[in-house]
Amino acid sequence: MINMMIGFFSDYFKYKEAAKKQERWIKKYCEKNNYVMNPSWMMATNLKSNLCEMEATFGKRYCPCFEPSGDKELDKKMMCPCEYVEDEIAEYGTCHCALFGPADLSKADWKASSQRLMDEYQVPKNLKDGVLDTRGMPLDPRRGLPIPDMMHQVKSTLNGYKGKSLKVIVERDQEAVNLEVMAKYREIGYSKVEGDGFIEITLELKK
Ligand code: SF4
Repeated sequence: MINMMIGFFSDYFKYKEAAKKQERWIKKYCEKNNYVMNPSWMMATNLKSNLCEMEATFGKRYCPCFEPSGDKELDKKMMCPCEYVEDEIAEYGTCHCALFGPADLSKADWKASSQRLMDEYQVPKNLKDGVLDTRGMPLDPRRGLPIPDMMHQVKSTLNGYKGKSLKVIVERDQEAVNLEVMAKYREIGYSKVEGDGFIEITLELKK
């Protein structure tokens, strides 16, 4: 929990200014569609920071919950606000990430959908002796992408991580590409070795 809070506040201060830009389009989008943004300050702040990080890292406003897939069509659909909003509101009460919901959604329903999301991201990580195996997570039924994705697993591992390096096992080529982009953005050393059906990446962390 403490590491999660460290990550939250470090992103909050880092993206405080950039988040204002997110707020402007979110406000317009909500007005146009009769939606509102998640009323929880922590949830909304976290999602806005993640949107800022996606833009800063990949140059595009990808969904804060799913890293780019490498499939151009799918990635286009996943730009926030994504193509799944209405469908997911019908199923969960809010969009997948619980950023948007109908203006008349009750407090209890906001809380339930936010909790659903947090539960999805609090699955135990497969981390042992400095090796994080990101494979085998459940797939989102609409996007066919893992929850939590590789990037969220790595980010939450790095919050408060004490080691000098971290090995990350990924399944998809695109995950290796994404991690390289993320490492460059964070000024972390990156090298990779191809295995049989997986890729092992070493992140050299500055201490
Ligand atoms: S699920 Fe919500 S936050 Fe994620 S891209 Fe879609 S609209 Fe944006």
